[in-house]
Amino acid sequence: MENNNLKAGKVGIIGAGSVGSTTAYALMVQGIGSEIVLIDRNKEKAEGEAMDIMHGQSFVKPIQVRAGDYSDLKDAKVIIITAGAPQKEGETRLDLVQKNTNIFKDIISEITKYNQDAILLVVANPVDILTYITLKLSGFSKKRVIGSGTVLDSARFRSLISEQCKIAAKNVHGYVIGEHGDSEVPVWSLTNIAGTQIDKYCPICDQNCDGVIKERISEQVKNAAYEIIEKKGSTYYAVALGVAQITQAILRDEDTVLTVSSLLQGEYGIEDVSLSLPTVIDNNGIRNVLELDLNKEEREAFINSANLMKDAIKELDI
Ligand code: NAD
Repeated sequence: MENNNLKAGKVGIIGAGSVGSTTAYALMVQGIGSEIVLIDRNKEKAEGEAMDIMHGQSFVKPIQVRAGDYSDLKDAKVIIITAGAPQKEGETRLDLVQKNTNIFKDIISEITKYNQDAILLVVANPVDILTYITLKLSGFSKKRVIGSGTVLDSARFRSLISEQCKIAAKNVHGYVIGEHGDSEVPVWSLTNIAGTQIDKYCPICDQNCDGVIKERISEQVKNAAYEIIEKKGSTYYAVALGVAQITQAILRDEDTVLTVSSLLQGEYGIEDVSLSLPTVIDNNGIRNVLELDLNKEEREAFINSANLMKDAIKELDI
């Protein structure tokens, strides 16, 4: 149920760096939300990004984008957290963990001073661990703490299969679950093209594939961020579109299924860790998490991903 103190289309973005400002831009271009507040410890950066985006307002549907501070979040419906140290070349998402946990302690305490009702959408990495930490630090219900999780990986997965099979990505259905990171699990057993399971589609496909195409696509999805970071320093376009999609699903009460990260409560026997599974998103945040009928290897890989996250959380000073 919508809290009356919240403004239905107001979105806060903490961190006006590459991901935060590109997300604001993606929201604006797609007409998602009515007001966006950018907050950054570098206030000038937030102001500059807001000005630059606002100067395009005559080309799109009306939307207010401005720099602000935490008190401006008091009536925000969705608060997106992208602030954090970015992944450096050669650094895994898990290497970032304590650095960004410390940043999150300050950020969550500032947010909750002004807003106890918003949906928190975590994007900073390592996103699954920071989603779990956000849940603990905020004390919010599980429904209202969401990580962008493997939304980006699932999009990359569908896009690579689409290119390989020469079929529009919208007709490729498949999910990457688990960690947004090295232990992620592409669910090939349930991947289908317009309802035809991928292995049954292969014999009728007119493209030439070698026998290792699945392995190659899985590796490309998993290593995409490393490759992009090596080539251009950071990744932000596709993730911003993914975050905009999650925000839209919330603001428009869409009941859309996306592989976001949220607290698991018994799925595959796993508790007390945040990971991605296909999840129905509505105006209240997480509506329900779908437990897929995984094969043995996928199930084991998912459980392994959960155990790695748990081990990393144990090491943290929260
Ligand atoms: P960036 O360095 O461009 O931006 C980070 C911003 O956060 C900076 O402007 C910085 O001033 C700000 N910041 C740092 N500490 C802050 C604090 N305490 N309060 C307010 N602002 C603060 O980095 P980026 O490329 O935008 O990446 C941001 C995060 O998003 C990183 O953790 C990155 O790994 C992650 N990321 C996640 C995904 C995903 O799919 N989840 C994809 C790409 C990047």
